[in-house]
Amino acid sequence: MTIYVITLDTENCIGCGQCELECPDNWKMVDGKAKFEKAEIDDSAYESNKKAADSCPVTVIKIEAKDGAAPSSGDSSDEDAGEGA
Ligand code: SF4
Repeated sequence: MTIYVITLDTENCIGCGQCELECPDNWKMVDGKAKFEKAEIDDSAYESNKKAADSCPVTVIKIEAKDGAAPSSGDSSDEDAGEGA
């Protein structure tokens, strides 16, 4: 399971309320600015929080995997370079 960290640039939030509309579970408007309740979410909450981030007109919401791991797993040493000898 991947853990994601949410960050919000509150200063540049314009208070439009889109994030709350998209993801009311984690986003609330407080004094005209967005606030999230949980800064760390798992896969089950990722989609709705991602929607909130994508809907933000000033893109002040960032969601990143906590350990920098890509959601998909796999090794990168599997190249099929068909070099002729
Ligand atoms: S969608 Fe963006 S600008 Fe609008 S309230 Fe949420 S964080 Fe602020």
